[in-house]
Amino acid sequence: MPGFELFGDLERNEVNDVLDNGVLMRYGFDGMRNGHWKAKTLEQALQNTFKSKHVQLVSSGTAAVSVALASAGVGAGDEVIMPTFTFVASFEAIMMLGAIPILVDIDDTLCLSPKAVEAAITNKTKAVMAVQMCGSMANMDALQAICNTHKVLLIEDACQAIGGTYKGKPLGSIGDLGCFSFDFVKTITCGEGGAVITNHTPYYTNADHYSDHGHDHVGHDRGAETHPFLGYNFRISELHAAVGLAQVKRLPEFLEIQKRNYNILRNAISAIPEVTFRTVPEGGEESCAFLNFFLPDMGIANKVMQGFKDNGVDVCWNYYNNNWHYIREWHHLKDLKSLFPISKEVKKGLENLKTKDFSMSDHYISRNISCLIKLSWTEDEVHARAQKMVDAIKKVL
Ligand SMILES: *Cc1c(COP(=O)(O)O)cnc(C)c1O
Repeated sequence: MPGFELFGDLERNEVNDVLDNGVLMRYGFDGMRNGHWKAKTLEQALQNTFKSKHVQLVSSGTAAVSVALASAGVGAGDEVIMPTFTFVASFEAIMMLGAIPILVDIDDTLCLSPKAVEAAITNKTKAVMAVQMCGSMANMDALQAICNTHKVLLIEDACQAIGGTYKGKPLGSIGDLGCFSFDFVKTITCGEGGAVITNHTPYYTNADHYSDHGHDHVGHDRGAETHPFLGYNFRISELHAAVGLAQVKRLPEFLEIQKRNYNILRNAISAIPEVTFRTVPEGGEESCAFLNFFLPDMGIANKVMQGFKDNGVDVCWNYYNNNWHYIREWHHLKDLKSLFPISKEVKKGLENLKTKDFSMSDHYISRNISCLIKLSWTEDEVHARAQKMVDAIKKVL
C-alpha cells in the first residue's frame, strides 16, 4: 500500500516549487504566490480520482472524519455506528465532537455487518460510518438501504481503500460524505494529510469553512473575511499538498503494481483448500492494498503467523490482539482514560463496551491474516514470498 515506497524526483520537484515560491500556506497571499495553488490543484485532481463533485483537503484522515461528521451536523449526544475492526481514529474523530461511538460487529467482509448496524439503530443514531478496511468494503447497498429507511447519514472512511470500487463507484464516493488519509503509510501520501469528499454542496461549504476557523473564503483579504459559524484549524499546508500532487499522478501505476502483487499471492494460496478469502460484496473491486484470508481456526492462524515470522514473511498480521485496530485491546477506550472530562452522555454510551458481545467479530478476526501488499517488491520477490507463504500454511495444516 504505501506510496512512500516509491518516492522520487516528482515529489521533490513539487515541494521545491513551493519552497522556491515561498508561500507555504494554502489560503491567502494571493499577490505573492504567482499562481502556486498546490492544495487547490490537488483537490481538483482528487475530484477526478474519486469522481466526486467536491473535495476538501485537511490535515489528516482523523481530521477528515471529524470534519465530515461536523459538516453534516453530527455532534454532542448523537450516536455514530462504527465497526469493531478499524483504526482508533474512528472513535477519536467521533468523540472529538462530543458524539457517541456505537461499536458493532463486522461480518465476513471484515467491514460493518448490515445486520449488526440495523440492530444498533436508535432514535439517537445520526450516522453510520462504514470503514472500508484493508482495501475492501462493506455491503454498501445494504447499508444504504438501512440508512435510507432510518433517515441517517452514511459516512465512508475509505482511508485504507484508495482505488477500490463498488458497482463502478470509487470507495469513499458512495455515502453522503467520504474520508481519506494521506498519512505516511497510505496508498498515496502527503506526509500527513486527508480529504473529505461529497457531492452535497452545503456539506462541502461547511467542510471548507469549518476546517479553517470558520473562514467564509469570500474575497481576497483573509483578515476581512467573516465567520458564519465556529470552526477549527484542520488545514493542510502547501508543502504537504505538493507531495500529494506528485503522488496522485502516480496512483494508477501504484494500483496496477498492487493488483499484480496481490494476484500472484492470492493465486498461490488459493490452491490450499482450507484457505478462504474475505467476502467482497457483489459489484465490489478491492484496491488490493492488502490480501486478507481466513484459516479454519485461531490456533492454526497463530501457527501460520509464527511460520511466516520464522521464514521472513513480514508485513502480515492477525489483528485479534492488535493494539490499534481491534476492540479487544482498546482498554483506553473501554476505561475512558481521557486527559479531560468526558460528557455524561458519552460515558453512558460507552458503558457497556467491556461486556458487550462481539463474538461474531472475534470469529472472523481471530482466524484472519492480513498481508500488506507492498509496491517496492519485484515480481520475482513476490513469487518467492508466495512460495514461502504456501509452504508455511501447508506445514501447519
Ligand atoms: C489511517 C487511517 C485513519 C486516520 O488517518 P490519519 O491520517 O493517520 O489521521 C482513519 N481511518 C482509517 C481506517 C485509517 O486506516
